[in-house]
Amino acid sequence: MKIVALAGNPNSGKTTLFNLLTGSNQSVGNWPGVTVEKKQGPYRKAKEVMIQDLPGIYSLSPYTAEEVVSRKYLIEQGPDLVINIVDATNIERNLYLTLQLLETGQPLMVSLNMIDLLKKQRRKINLKKLAYLLSVPVIAISALKKKNIDNLQRQAEHSLTERPTYPQLQYDERLESALTMIEKNLTGIIPATKLRWYAIKLFERDEQVKQEIKLDATRQKDIEQTIDTAEKLFQDTSDSIMINARYELISRLVKMCVIDENDFAMSFSDRVDMVVTNRWLALPIFFLVMWAVYYLSIQTIGTMGSDWINDVLFGSLIPNFVQECLVKWQVASWMQGLIIDGIVNGLGSILGFVPQIMMLFLCLGILEDCGYMARIAFVMDRIFHRFNLSGKSFIPMLISTGCGVPGIMATRTIENEKDRKMTIMLTTFMPCSAKLTVIALVSGTFFPDQSWVAPSAYFLGMVAVVGSGIFLKKTKLFAGPPLPFVMELPAYHFPKPANVGRQVLNRADSFIKKREQLFLLLVC
Ligand code: GDP
Repeated sequence: MKIVALAGNPNSGKTTLFNLLTGSNQSVGNWPGVTVEKKQGPYRKAKEVMIQDLPGIYSLSPYTAEEVVSRKYLIEQGPDLVINIVDATNIERNLYLTLQLLETGQPLMVSLNMIDLLKKQRRKINLKKLAYLLSVPVIAISALKKKNIDNLQRQAEHSLTERPTYPQLQYDERLESALTMIEKNLTGIIPATKLRWYAIKLFERDEQVKQEIKLDATRQKDIEQTIDTAEKLFQDTSDSIMINARYELISRLVKMCVIDENDFAMSFSDRVDMVVTNRWLALPIFFLVMWAVYYLSIQTIGTMGSDWINDVLFGSLIPNFVQECLVKWQVASWMQGLIIDGIVNGLGSILGFVPQIMMLFLCLGILEDCGYMARIAFVMDRIFHRFNLSGKSFIPMLISTGCGVPGIMATRTIENEKDRKMTIMLTTFMPCSAKLTVIALVSGTFFPDQSWVAPSAYFLGMVAVVGSGIFLKKTKLFAGPPLPFVMELPAYHFPKPANVGRQVLNRADSFIKKREQLFLLLVC
């Protein structure tokens, strides 16, 4: 009687396929010594072939009863063929078991199940390539929809009669040489077909295998030395080295065989970026956006709030109330003047800017949180690079538009020391919130109806910074090309109110505190 074993991850469709291959003729029991269900049944098309369903497992490590049962069965009984059911929609995880099954040296074929669901995932798997790279036959099926089952059966019957042997997959070269050395220590003790499996298990320091094969002291010492050397070389424990080697191989296999159509499809962000980061449109759009920000914060909404604070709250309400109190308390008139003209009016002049500044921070916060500011850094890099400046300098400068201190702190991401020092020098000149107040004050006072003045002053400040950068780059101290700028652009998304709100409050808080300190200093 020939035996075909079905092995696969839980939920890979093993039972569905088992039912298809065996029909209703099944026997259910337990594996010896454990309460793990054992199902088997004769092959529907040839009664002399027994289909053995192995428990659903993720690996062949000896951690669960199911894993122990499966590996014992595969190594000790040695079925005539192992059909590995791989869930095609979860191929990365499923291939981990496939690699371990290959390590056992058993005749194997892969049945790539749930192929009907791949389309929905917008993924394609190159079967020929996968079969070539794994060196075993790969048949795509849908057990549920009974698709391609005939092909699977034909291949299984062929493998059973021909019993072709397959070469072992190769991991990292350094790991392979360690495994070969261990295999040499095992020759004569272990059958050639199982050498690799035992070498890998000994390399992983698998206690069960160690006890099973009981090597003499010299061989044990030799193997231990080989493992020690590998661990020193990889700076990792031997079982982690093996796990990493398998995952590395899987990621290479997936890269080569799986085509993710999502990678090619243009997302919403890509389409927006075609316009927003366009070579010619990017800067005019940036200018327009910044103009809108200033228009909202300094010309319209922000100004309405500021006007109310200046004209109503600190223009009449609070001074009148304070005056009444002071008169009632019979405070000296010079003291009244000091309190009203000095403290109250002074406070008013600080708080008068708060609505404008908060509106400004709100707009900048929204732009930052929705992903637009990251694009600007990218667009700026193209321009900065032309002047031998690093695009990475832009982010600290951008942050400096809020406050110079975090801007300087943000320069830590610039690897090149010269670029970092230069950026620190330049960021402090950026039009920050303190300078904005001055810009807003000057433009609001002298050019009340010309909305272009404030953004022009803002951009002029930036141009001056870039100009200074170009100049500094020409000096001996800072000369040299900048490092390439690599940055992942986040997908556009609706800004989260909590994030934006937190940013606005933090920035407004530091704005008020800074002004308060200055004001107290002046009063003192
Ligand atoms: P097992 O845990 O490996 O025995 O997996 P099952 O055979 O119980 O299948 C798990 C689930 O996947 C069940 O709901 C099946 O109906 C479903 N399933 C199995 N094969 C396929 C398939 O080819 N396509 C789809 N869409 N679903 C499948």
